[in-house]
Amino acid sequence: MKAAFFKEHGGAEKILYDDYRDPVAEAGEVVVRVRACALNQVDMLLLDGRFPPPEGLPHVNGCEVTGTVEAVGAGVKGLAPGQRAIIFPGFSCGRCEYCLRGARTVCVRYGYLGAHKDGGYAELVKAPAANILPLPEAISFEAGAAVPMAMLTSWHALIAQAGCRPGQRVLVQAAGSGVGSAAIQIARLCGARVIATVGSDDKIDFARSLGAEHVVNYRTQDFVEETKRWSGKRGVDVVIEHIGGETFERSVYALARLGTLVSIGSHDTHWGRLDLRHVYSKNLRILGTNLGSITELETVLEHLVDGRLKPVVDRVFPLEDARAAVQHVLDRKNRGKVLVVP
Ligand SMILES: [Zn+2]
Repeated sequence: MKAAFFKEHGGAEKILYDDYRDPVAEAGEVVVRVRACALNQVDMLLLDGRFPPPEGLPHVNGCEVTGTVEAVGAGVKGLAPGQRAIIFPGFSCGRCEYCLRGARTVCVRYGYLGAHKDGGYAELVKAPAANILPLPEAISFEAGAAVPMAMLTSWHALIAQAGCRPGQRVLVQAAGSGVGSAAIQIARLCGARVIATVGSDDKIDFARSLGAEHVVNYRTQDFVEETKRWSGKRGVDVVIEHIGGETFERSVYALARLGTLVSIGSHDTHWGRLDLRHVYSKNLRILGTNLGSITELETVLEHLVDGRLKPVVDRVFPLEDARAAVQHVLDRKNRGKVLVVP
């Protein structure tokens, strides 16, 4: 098959488009013919070596995949070639203490499609049969590919972790990103009011169109001051944070008393510091989360079918132009998800 892979770490120029080993469906596994694969910030960490692929190089990125079932391994039931599919990107062992408690995303042997295994910047990809969900006819392959990591992570962060409620105020960092564009919509679906940040003025209307009431350009404005001004000096109840560094630190200062910050990524830097007096004197909660459950993914898909949530697809590149797609994300030009299509 053809795939876009890398043999050494670096920038977009390291992405090669060439022949690659075909995945083979072993017992309990399914090979999916990729119809669309979304890019993620974690792809950039895998590519540049900040998060080296655990199985080594060469490696194929791509954790958000839709397609059709191509082949099934021994013992796989209920899935047949040709069936439309969406892949749940988290792998867990099902046997460790955390899996048995139902917290599969903190499995001691947790892994991601496209990180711990080769992913979807390819014509074919394989995954355990338990990770394959039917993709409803009402959802296009391209719309579906924007969901299984970005929208699911934002859903889990806001609904399960932050317990977002009607009337609350929510700060969403980086509205132009996949998780940001999803988080604005999900917070609005909860009946919350949203302030969002963007890195350039040309993304302000985009953030408003998704439901943000107030939009701040974090390069030219102080988002903590703007948040305080927008909320009558009170601060917000929830922050969805995925940048790290100073953005993480200052996001905590934007919280109201009893507020919750959910950390779902560290795209600029893995580090962050805090004036801890804010944390204890305001009784703040700082939570971490990654992905969500298969059940939550099914719920998100239902909201898509009913039109209450809309995946935001910025641009679709042919797979052979994966290098340009990666550069587009690295340049932060995207508003919503960037896809590659074989
Ligand atoms: Zn486990």
